[in-house]
Amino acid sequence: MLMSGSVFAVISILTIVTSLLIREYGNARDTAVRSANNVVQLIEADVQRNAELYDTSLQGMIEASRRPDLQNISPVLRQLILFDRATSAPFKGDLLLLDRKGGIVADSTSVTPRLDNFSDGSNFQHHRDDPSLNLLVSGPFKSRWGFKDWCISFSRRIPSEDGEFVGIATAAMRLAYFSQLFRTLDVGSNSFATLISTNGVVLARQPHTSGKDYVGEDFSKTPNFQRILSEGTGTFGAVAALDNVQRIYTFSRVADLPLIVVVAQARDEVYGVWQRNAILVGTATSILCVGILWLSHLLGKQLRLRMRAERELAELASTDGLTGLANRRRLDQVLKQEWSRGSRSGLPLSLLMIDVDHFKAFNDRHGHHGGDEALRQVAETIGGTVRRPGDLAARYGGEEFSVVLPETGLEGAKVIAQRIREAVEALPRFANDPDSITVSIGLASYTPTASESHALLFVAADKALYQAKKNGRNRVEVQADR
Ligand code: GH3
Ligand code: MG
Ligand code: MG
Repeated sequence: MLMSGSVFAVISILTIVTSLLIREYGNARDTAVRSANNVVQLIEADVQRNAELYDTSLQGMIEASRRPDLQNISPVLRQLILFDRATSAPFKGDLLLLDRKGGIVADSTSVTPRLDNFSDGSNFQHHRDDPSLNLLVSGPFKSRWGFKDWCISFSRRIPSEDGEFVGIATAAMRLAYFSQLFRTLDVGSNSFATLISTNGVVLARQPHTSGKDYVGEDFSKTPNFQRILSEGTGTFGAVAALDNVQRIYTFSRVADLPLIVVVAQARDEVYGVWQRNAILVGTATSILCVGILWLSHLLGKQLRLRMRAERELAELASTDGLTGLANRRRLDQVLKQEWSRGSRSGLPLSLLMIDVDHFKAFNDRHGHHGGDEALRQVAETIGGTVRRPGDLAARYGGEEFSVVLPETGLEGAKVIAQRIREAVEALPRFANDPDSITVSIGLASYTPTASESHALLFVAADKALYQAKKNGRNRVEVQADR
């Protein structure tokens, strides 16, 4: 009971701790995903705001360029009108108006447009061949002028009145802007915030742990990018193709622009605190459980020892020291018990009172030591004759013995009594004694009633024993009536 109780307690503790740890594991992931989502939304909002800013500039340039009176004003004023709305864009690159051949018509960096041709540019070619008027975001490229660093360009096609291609308006944005924006975000040392175009080219990535920023590299073939592209917005866990680190990817498409913001958090960073707690709690719980089981084991051992000692004590308290038969105390207990059982069942109860004949003389011949030995033999003989589980052979006191025979009527008890008498008489002569040891037996057999006491049976058996002595000893006498 004790051990199974402890095992149950240990299983309960383990179940509770395990379920708490599982819940905490889920919470760690939820918290990480929530903060990643916040970062993604922040970047997304910023990128979108910038794209809108650039688009406004482009639309302003296109609108102004289509006015016929633009050519009649001074070049400085024209410059101001064309590019006024673009001045506030952060990390602004060049803003250009190109004609249908790719030549520069207007240039934000100089009143006199520089001599250059962009007909080889991918966005120029796209607008020339595609009549759509949508905003186009190009892949990253290194600018030819100015800072000569990585840029992306926003561009729109300029159609004539009848929809013919007459040129494009284009604005470059330096990607250093995103690097600076990402630097202000704390995503973790082995985690990344990445801005990637929908064709898989990295536009900005932070932090640069390896010293490499991967800007301009094509990740379009990696399975993680494929999944990000097909799902649009969401979260999943996967191994990074670059460094084989397990990461949780949270990502979102930036409005309807061909840009995707991805925050990739290293699993180790997401679950680091949880892992440390789990190890701590797990170890403490294991020690506690082992302690409980060990203490229960020790307690169980002590209880078993104590129970054995109590059993031995109880046995000692109910056993006769000389003969090993039940003692007088036990005899009284059992007789009382059997008397009330018999009164309920209505079955007869028999009692034998056995007294060794002329034992005083025997003692005189063989001494007390010899007498004790003879008493042991007589006790063994009586105990050996009474074999039914409910029967009880006891030493009443001195050289007197008693046998309780539950559910046994007069005839059955007589048989047993005779058997005892004969068995004692048949014992080998003690130390060449001329006489064999004999016993006289008084037998009483009553059907117990609740209103009477078991003492009745004692008195009756004792009377019968007296009769047996009187009638010559080594015999069985019966007292059957009340
Ligand atoms: P009777 O046939 O009338 O019973 O004669 P008896 O001599 O047996 O009767 P009595 O009751 O006068 O004597 C009993 C004797 O039993 C007294 C004592 O010497 C002896 N006796 C009683 N208890 C013990 C015992 O534990 N050990 C030994 N050795 N002798 C005992
Ligand atoms: Mg006696
Ligand atoms: Mg006697």
